[in-house]
Amino acid sequence: CGIIGYTGKNAAKDIMLDALETLEYRGYDSAGIAICESGSEQTRIYKCAGRVKDLRNLCENKTIEGNCGIGHTRWATHGGVSDENAHPHKYEKVTVIHNGIIENYRDLIRKYDLCDKLHSQTDSEVVAAVLSHFYTGDPYSAIQKTVLKLKGTFALGIIFEDMPGFVFAVRNVSPIVVAKTESGTMLASDVTVLGQYSKDYFVLPEGHILTMKADGAELCDMSGEPVLPEWLTISWDT
Ligand code: GLU
Repeated sequence: CGIIGYTGKNAAKDIMLDALETLEYRGYDSAGIAICESGSEQTRIYKCAGRVKDLRNLCENKTIEGNCGIGHTRWATHGGVSDENAHPHKYEKVTVIHNGIIENYRDLIRKYDLCDKLHSQTDSEVVAAVLSHFYTGDPYSAIQKTVLKLKGTFALGIIFEDMPGFVFAVRNVSPIVVAKTESGTMLASDVTVLGQYSKDYFVLPEGHILTMKADGAELCDMSGEPVLPEWLTISWDT
């Protein structure tokens, strides 16, 4: 599948829909976006089974204002192809997009007593629920504790509803690249998307937490120590 995240000065909806179209080749049975709505502390989700053009239709004629969001094109591995199983998944204050497979999701459902509380059949919604379980206002601590519980592969983009304007990310095996663009900060599953907006990017190292704000990106390791990104340059024309 493909993931995208944006925070900056421009309308997140348009940037994400365009980026998801570029990412569609990675998986395309469903698509969705979550936007931190301007002027409220609410994360709104628009998602459906189908192509990105179906998501575009769903978003048409709706006022979707916000400068921060995450988006996903799905290639289903756990849970059938349906609107509910499309990403993003929101659980209480935590909204998640996920590329990969959480192998122990059934164990986590049991351990955190989630059986009756989930809205989808995916392994991914469980990550949102576990993050929510650990979230008491400190995103780093919630992410650290959650990652310790996960077995499998993941590239996660995360929004906490009470931290509008911030996108967090963490990964194991599945890819995430990050760029500073003219209007903000962006993450994606692959560099072909970023190339339209910037020539400079870095690969999110595994086991590190990415914090994206409108004016840039910061990295820290799992103990919270700041780490400098290793910037690379795209050397082909996009
Ligand atoms: N395992 C997740 C799901 O089936 C994510 C699949 C993907 O990477 O698109 O929803």
